[in-house]
Amino acid sequence: MPRRCTVCDHPQKHSIDETLITGAPYRSVAKRFGLSESAVYRHKTEHLSAHLSKAREAEEVAQADDLLDQVRDLQGRALDILGRAEKAGDLRTALAAISQARGNLELLGKLAGELDERPVVNLNASPEWLELRAVIVAALKPYSDARVAVLRALEAGGNGSA
Ligand SMILES: [Zn+2]
Repeated sequence: MPRRCTVCDHPQKHSIDETLITGAPYRSVAKRFGLSESAVYRHKTEHLSAHLSKAREAEEVAQADDLLDQVRDLQGRALDILGRAEKAGDLRTALAAISQARGNLELLGKLAGELDERPVVNLNASPEWLELRAVIVAALKPYSDARVAVLRALEAGGNGSA
């Protein structure tokens, strides 16, 4: 940049920015911090707004990351419950856990931008889902009726292509 910004270089830049964010008039900000009105104006329009939108973007990304972490955590718990329910032969709980895990996967996919809202989305192509599905089917091997029911429910909940 050819011209330095007297506001950006100002030792009280942070206070100036805070004052500007509250909507204080340029003239009073300039007077208070010993700056020229035009410098304050230029700083607010060229530097502060860019800085603010960048901060907002970073915040949004952080929130999405946090959400992703939470869904991953939920998924871990759902799979844990599924494992325990299978061991205990509690098929009702196992089914509920499967349904929860499936929803989590869809949400994870959406958050990761891998899936979108269009009905053509194919969850069955997701490697995590295929893996989970194989685990489910294997776990239900001794219970053929339940296995058929689960498979049917999974197909119906997919793309309606079953
Ligand atoms: Zn500036």
